[in-house]
Amino acid sequence: MTQALPKVIIHGGAGGALAHPDVLNALRHDLHAIVEQIYSKAEAGASARDCVVFGCQLLEDTPRFNAGYGSVLQSDGQVRMSAGLMDGSTQRFSGIINVSRVRHPIDLAAYLQPAPDRVLSDLGAAELAREMRIEPFDPVTDLRLKEWMQERAHNFQRSMAGVVAEPIDSAGSGDSEARRGTIGVVVLDQEGRLAVGTSTGGKGLERLGRVSDSATVAGNYANGVAAVSCTGIGEDIIDECLASRIVVRVTDGMAIAAALEKSFAEATANGRDFGAIALSHRGEIAWGKTSDVLLAAYHTGEAVGDTLELSSGTLTGVVQL
Ligand code: ASP
Repeated sequence: MTQALPKVIIHGGAGGALAHPDVLNALRHDLHAIVEQIYSKAEAGASARDCVVFGCQLLEDTPRFNAGYGSVLQSDGQVRMSAGLMDGSTQRFSGIINVSRVRHPIDLAAYLQPAPDRVLSDLGAAELAREMRIEPFDPVTDLRLKEWMQERAHNFQRSMAGVVAEPIDSAGSGDSEARRGTIGVVVLDQEGRLAVGTSTGGKGLERLGRVSDSATVAGNYANGVAAVSCTGIGEDIIDECLASRIVVRVTDGMAIAAALEKSFAEATANGRDFGAIALSHRGEIAWGKTSDVLLAAYHTGEAVGDTLELSSGTLTGVVQL
């Protein structure tokens, strides 16, 4: 068996520019620390799938991001979370849609990997949490609750919640308009296997029953050749079928850089607002965005880098190894 150098890329959402410079440093600190921990696990020989689940759990535990603890509230003031997991080596997708009161939605998606019914929603998700004997967990943070209360005071004029949980200023706004913070993890392990996971609290302030892209193959897809996790407006991601579209292009022979360039040029022409992170089985680390910022960090095996300070016009990039 040939051992490859593992590769890891993670994201903590995409959206409008951050209002507070201090938030950038805090985000960099969190993302770099988490990518290092995932890398250590991969370096110790863990499978891509286990590394992805572990990385998603760490990001779900970080209240700054809109997944697990710190998820945004929906229009009725409740948190409902969704997560998708795809193992590229088996080409199996599993997911959980609109689950409440759990700490790690990714654990439910992981549990469903070998199951005959692999994507469960609402009632089925609650039933599964009981079956797995998951302790009830309240994912609401004070900051997210305050954000929702302020939105309520303004009669829910904004269409989304924050890209990251930033302190809300006296004018009542945290960061600017497009405001999300879903998390995603993509890993290539030592044996050359790819896996991807994506977890979200949704767009925030959405109507009941809305289904996020994160637990669909538009937002999260992998096979033996490439793996992609998306973030941004779920409806835009679904309309482009973004993750699958990029993976299929690479599978059919396009270089990952070209696949991202083409997909993001199309997305720009269609006026979409989102970002994506990607890995190829060759170890190429890549990303793309139409939104102002993409909060991604990666580990090449030699160095850690991130996309936090790219200019808003930059569409795609590949890490030169
Ligand atoms: N894609 C997520 C959704 O629409 C939101 C996000 O990425 O922040 O549910």
